[in-house]
Amino acid sequence: MTMKLLILGGTAQAVQLAERLAGDARFAVTYSLAGRTETPRLPPVPTRIGGFGGAEGLSTYLRERAIDVLIDATHPFAERISASARAAAGELLIVLHRQKWLPTQEDRWTEVATLEAAASALPASPSRVLLTVGRQSLVPFATRAGHHYVIRVIDPPVIPPGMTGFEILVGRGPFLLAGEIALMRQHQIECLVTKNSGGEAAFAKIEAARALGLPVILVTPPQASSAGAFISVEDVMSELVRRHESLAKRSV
Ligand code: NAP
Repeated sequence: MTMKLLILGGTAQAVQLAERLAGDARFAVTYSLAGRTETPRLPPVPTRIGGFGGAEGLSTYLRERAIDVLIDATHPFAERISASARAAAGELLIVLHRQKWLPTQEDRWTEVATLEAAASALPASPSRVLLTVGRQSLVPFATRAGHHYVIRVIDPPVIPPGMTGFEILVGRGPFLLAGEIALMRQHQIECLVTKNSGGEAAFAKIEAARALGLPVILVTPPQASSAGAFISVEDVMSELVRRHESLAKRSV
């Protein structure tokens, strides 16, 4: 029997999971994206793009397509879709959220709960700041004029009103440590501001800041969306195989 899976994606781990499942006859996978990125990385499985219309819309989608398992593999900061997944899927839900990064003794981190708090935690004196919070998250930094922002994004952002003193670097990870160190040196970066997204694909900038002794302001992910989560693709694969076996037993 074939188990129908819907993966809520938008992360490197979600793509990895879909790639692992592609071609496995036990599973029929659909990969879902919000449609935020202009040229997203897509796995070799059927894809759908766009919101569902909240928890109710997602619930209808799951029922109409007889989805057996919903996998929330979205970014840990994507709170609304994760809340919809919890409300709509109940027992059908598996969460795949990587573990957040933890500081070492060499790190100079300031951890904050919100983007607004990150903007407030910037140095008092004018500084050169590498900002890698995503193009939808720039607004709070427009209120902290005087700094020079080097903004790295996947797609060009809409610059919020009032934002001055910035340059845009368009690029998609994963980035390597040597490149991140070179970039920070070239732009004379004095402070890094980022989200504590966890995982390996975006970690090199944290290591680069550590190597250069730079302060880092990190926004902590919301807790709710990662409760009871699996942290690796392998763990989710094992859980899916377990659920498939139990569904197969029940259907004979
Ligand atoms: P969000 O605030 O939780 O989502 C806003 C709305 O977008 C949701 O209510 C849902 O619309 C729709 N949506 C989100 N993810 C979806 C998915 N995978 N498939 C279908 N619809 C989806 O999320 P966000 O922070 O805007 O992030 C959007 C997407 O970008 C997420 O899939 C996430 O994995 C990815 N992403 C986010 C970040 C970040 O920093 N937030 C970073 C990297 C990647 P309906 O309510 O209409 O269903």
